[in-house]
Amino acid sequence: MTSCPVFIGGEWREINGLETSPVYNPSRGDVIAQVPLCGADVVNEAVEAAATAFPAWRDTPPVERARLFFRYRQLLEENFDKICQLVSREHGKTLAEAKGSAYRGLENVEYACGIPTLLMGDTLEQLARGVDCETMNQPLGVCVGITPFNFPAMVPMWMFPLALACGNTFVLKPSEKVPLTSNYIIELLEKAGLPKGVLNVVHGGRECVDALLTHPKVKAISFVGSSPVAKHIYETGTRHGKRVQANGGAKNYIVVMPDADVARTVEALSTAAFGCAGERCMAGSTAIAVGKAAEHVLPSLVEAARAIKVGPTDTKIQPDMGPVITAQHRDRVFSLVASGEKEGAKILTDGRGLRVADAPNGFYMGATIVDNVQDEMTIAREEVFGPVLNVMRMNDLDAAIEIANRSSYGNGAAIFTNSGKAAREFKHRVKAGMVGINVGVPATMAMFPFTGWDESFYGDLHIQGKEAVQFYTQQKVVSSRWFGDGVGDVWRSSK
Ligand code: NAD
Repeated sequence: MTSCPVFIGGEWREINGLETSPVYNPSRGDVIAQVPLCGADVVNEAVEAAATAFPAWRDTPPVERARLFFRYRQLLEENFDKICQLVSREHGKTLAEAKGSAYRGLENVEYACGIPTLLMGDTLEQLARGVDCETMNQPLGVCVGITPFNFPAMVPMWMFPLALACGNTFVLKPSEKVPLTSNYIIELLEKAGLPKGVLNVVHGGRECVDALLTHPKVKAISFVGSSPVAKHIYETGTRHGKRVQANGGAKNYIVVMPDADVARTVEALSTAAFGCAGERCMAGSTAIAVGKAAEHVLPSLVEAARAIKVGPTDTKIQPDMGPVITAQHRDRVFSLVASGEKEGAKILTDGRGLRVADAPNGFYMGATIVDNVQDEMTIAREEVFGPVLNVMRMNDLDAAIEIANRSSYGNGAAIFTNSGKAAREFKHRVKAGMVGINVGVPATMAMFPFTGWDESFYGDLHIQGKEAVQFYTQQKVVSSRWFGDGVGDVWRSSK
């Protein structure tokens, strides 16, 4: 069984004698590691190590910090297959999905390589007579990253590369469901030349997180996970004086207009709903078919869903879709579909009965399409986070936007149409932070912020891009003037 050490002060260390949590290979249903559930003692050691490393790291010139990330980028590229195999093994994504998402993470490392330019401040000469003014962007101190299970490589890389590049030190607390990828990508960072204590890894669940949220030496917290936990992180962290950015869950609507390109829309809907087995905060979870759009796209969409091959992802021949994360999560998704059925929705294709012969203990569910979903149904309101696409039918674009805007979340929304006017109206009025026009999963890349709204985000400055640089730095504004009458000054003496 794979071990799962913590990384503190530059040392990898097994933690024994604590309660543990199982890490599964969801493709087979077997336990591949046990992760220790660390508490306040281990957290304190990690935060102290990060605090001790901060003064020297803060004083390391940004160009030198950037060089660490150039070397790191190279190592990530050289070991990319191993990273993706780990993601696939402990999460269940197909290798292609693991590659796509890990690359999104790697792009954040590339962005961090530009830190000398990103950190530059502003100056205004002659603010008043003989007075100049400049801004400096300085690091905060010890920052913390708490990550979810669904992107084991990408989400940690949304956080620590930029936090470190800005001159902060860091404690990473990966999801206890997928800790192995995090440990491996940090081993690579160590190989790239990470100084001791600059980044530390602890493992655990709620107790570990709460110890981080309340530790007096922690300055800022980046969180990605479900909305109730995001809210808890934001409230507890800010109450303890920390800067917090907390990304939550989502329910993303894709509006399909009657004039949409049928083949491309079907392909995009299928990828948005069933890619990564629906375990994405940007998954297209509800299609709103306007007018005759349902007649145009549904038959091919059902056909596409039925053709999706589901199976283990730890094999040479890859399926189209892998398992979900745990048996418990799969049963929750099953029960949400059952609730939709009970409340009057119509199941067009049902993945609940799926059996995978060569992996009978894996956590599988086939692609499922639920039609005639009404806004008040449980399946319409709750985040499903599985391979399930709801279909709602509306008469016009106004009604479709109204339904999308009723959601308590506000992560992503998309429209498929050939009408510039409809697209313009949609992007102007829809209540979501990331909008796609003929793009099913409008998740942003490293140079743009990941801009969830409402219950999809608690905080002010988002993850990624310039907003993240602002999040991980504090501004100092320096006004300066110099005295002397000039007579006999050194600078005049040569004249
Ligand atoms: P989760 O909220 O259960 O766990 C996330 C992290 O919080 C984990 O590290 C976990 O150990 C910790 N945690 C769990 N319960 C806690 C508690 N009560 N107190 C303190 N810490 C706790 O989320 P998950 O199931 O791992 O991930 C899936 C969720 O993440 C989905 O809701 C998905 O939409 C969301 N997500 C959001 C984004 C985004 O950018 N908005 C991206 C990826 C995933």
